[in-house]
Parts: sequence; C-alpha cells; structure tokens
Amino acid sequence: MRLSKLCCAVAALLLAGCSTPLPVQAQGENGVSTPAPRGLASQPSQPFASWLEGLKADAARRGVSAGVFDKALGRAQPIERIVELDRKQPEFTQTFWGYMDKRITGERIEKGRRLLDQHKGLLDRVAKEYGVQPRFLVAFWGLETNFGETLGGFSTAEALATLAWDPRRSAFFREQLLTLLVLMQKGDVPTDARGSWAGAMGHFQFMPATYRDFAVDFDGDRRRDLWKSFADAAASAANYLSRSGWRGDQTWGREVLLPAGFDWELADGTTRRGLAEWRNLGLRAADGSELPARDIDAALVLPTGHKGPAFLAYGNFNAIMTWNRSVLYAVSVGHLADRMAGGAPLKASRAVADVPLSRQDVLELQQRLIGLGMDIGGEPDGVVGVKTRQALKTWQKRNGLPPDGYPDGALLERLRRGG
Ligand code: CA
Repeated sequence: MRLSKLCCAVAALLLAGCSTPLPVQAQGENGVSTPAPRGLASQPSQPFASWLEGLKADAARRGVSAGVFDKALGRAQPIERIVELDRKQPEFTQTFWGYMDKRITGERIEKGRRLLDQHKGLLDRVAKEYGVQPRFLVAFWGLETNFGETLGGFSTAEALATLAWDPRRSAFFREQLLTLLVLMQKGDVPTDARGSWAGAMGHFQFMPATYRDFAVDFDGDRRRDLWKSFADAAASAANYLSRSGWRGDQTWGREVLLPAGFDWELADGTTRRGLAEWRNLGLRAADGSELPARDIDAALVLPTGHKGPAFLAYGNFNAIMTWNRSVLYAVSVGHLADRMAGGAPLKASRAVADVPLSRQDVLELQQRLIGLGMDIGGEPDGVVGVKTRQALKTWQKRNGLPPDGYPDGALLERLRRGG
C-alpha cells in the first residue's frame, strides 16, 4: 500500500485515463517507493511546534475545536522512525515469486476459508448491497491486516503530522491530516486512533480521505467504526470497490498461457480485447483449457516480462489497482481470493530465473540506454518508470528481443555487450 507508486510503470499505464477514487492507501506494497523530487528541501522549513500552530489555525477554519486538536496532537512530536521508513529506498526491485510467497501462504488461505465461513451471513449481506463477492473482501482483509491482526500501532494523528511536516510529500499528508482531524471532530474517528506508519486505519487500512468519502455504517449504530466493527469495515471496503467500478458478476482475471510467436506488443497491460479475441490469438487458460466463452474485456499483464507468468486482467483488476497501484498487489488479491475458493496454485514455472535488479543495476541500465541516445524521461534514478520501460521496449525491438519493457540480469548483460 503505497500511494507514491504513481511512477510504477505498468500501474500508471493501467490507470491511464481513469478518473477513479484516490487509492485507499498512501503507500504501495510493491516494494518500490518514489524518490524524493529533486530540488526540494530535504529538511522541514520550520520547527515542528510552530508548524503545528499553523496547522491548528487551518484545522480551526475547518471546524476542528481546540479541544479535539489538542487531544489528537497536543503532545505530538515528529516520529523519526516514520521519516526513516518513508525515505527508505529498497535496494532490490521486487521479484514476482518473492512477493507472492510472502503473502499467499497455506496458513493464510486456510484462515481465509475459515473466516469466509464464519462471516458468511454478514458478507452475503454486504455482497447483496454492494456487489462485491465475499472471497475478494476476505482477500483484501488478509493482505491488508492479516485479517485484523495487524491494525498498526502508530498514533494516526502523529504519524500524519510527521509526514506532513516532513517536506517530501507534505501537501498530500497535510490534507490527509486535516481530513482526519475533521473526522475526529465529527466523532467518526477517536482522537487516539492508531494505524500504520503512513496513516492507514482499520481492518482495511483506509486513509482519512478514503474514510471520509467511502466509509459506511453497516451495523446501524450511526458510527462508521473501521476498527471495532467488522461489519462497518467490510461494507466500507465493498463500497469503495463498488464505486471504483467493481462488477459482482465477474472475477478479477486469470492466469493464461501464451502461444508461441505471440505478438508482445499486445501485452502492454492496457490493450483491451474481448475474451473471444484473446482466444483467437491463441491464449489458453493456465491449465491448458479453452478460455471461457463469456463476453468480457481483458488486458494482458506480464508482471515480470515475457519470461514470467501472464494474466488476463478483467475490469475488476483495475478496481483493485485504484485501491493500490501495484500490479503485484492486484494479482495477489485475485489469486488469494481464488485459492480461498478452492482454486489451484499458479501454474507458471518457477524455474525461470527471477533475479531482481538492484538499484545500482537499474542505474547502470538507464545510463546505458541514455548512452545509446534513448530518452528515459530524465536523469537515471534507479527506478524503472514508464519512460525507462518505453526506452527498453524500443531497444528490445531493435535487437530482435520480445519488447516487454521488463529489465532483468540477462538484458543488462546484453546491453553491456552492446545489443
Ligand atoms: Ca457502525
């Protein structure tokens, strides 16, 4: 759950042209965070205490009383650990199997099945109201907070104050903090609310603006309580998904097999075709059977390039991506839901080397692309963004390689050799 993944190439491509709700969370889970914009001060422009005074005045203009403000932030200090977490750059890009294996465990699948059964009555009512199938809600629940076990121990007000005071993404977090204070003033959120270091709250880890816009009272006590009321939390998650375009009569997508000689240009994550057309192009379900005959539009997604697993992503995949702009996250939600419903493990081979590139490798890759006169959208930054992928695709085409825009060790090696 990391917002900043605005730069995640495939995610950005998939989102292009959507006018959808803000992501539920501020941080993506694909393990790559946005580097600080260049040229911005890395130190806060004023001491925390005086910054807080300015915030208090702004909050008052939105109707937040001094009493509520002081309860939430009266003793607040910046939390150094949060600034560290926010600025931490992962050394390696995420591997597909590393990501999946960590999240889709046998234990989690089993527990999800038990909880699906235990909450069946409630989840069926939520499904009827919002059109989101129970298995998907439980999958989100499992991935976000391990089914409510890890709701987060940071004071939400103090966490957001820290991130709003720190200049890196100040405007975004300041607005979230002011929204939180208004929710506290209204009584939706207690002033001592706790959650993730990035300000996400409750069973499904809602950011304040998501809370404000999408949280619902489903148990009828007139409060939207995303911590103690699983009914409220589940219905709120379903409401968010429903308003992000979720279709209750479709699944998320499916793993597929590609035919030999496939036209890789179609695998850009955005080109949409009907299932019948994909079938005509030679795609099959992962078990080798025919694709379903239903009339559903889908895009082909290759999270780790042409050597890795392939997925047809239906409309609901995009709804998951509005929640969290990470392709790996979206696949993990869909696959976990399938597994809880008795579906088979993924079929793609693990034998293919899935070696992550380090930031240093990506930097070198970018420098070499620039050296070849290619545009990567700026200076090398060690992050594979949309432009870097486009440059890679162009280079791959020129060199007779499948243009999947996915960098790996073999590709870097070939670049070193000059093509
Ligand atoms: Ca309630």
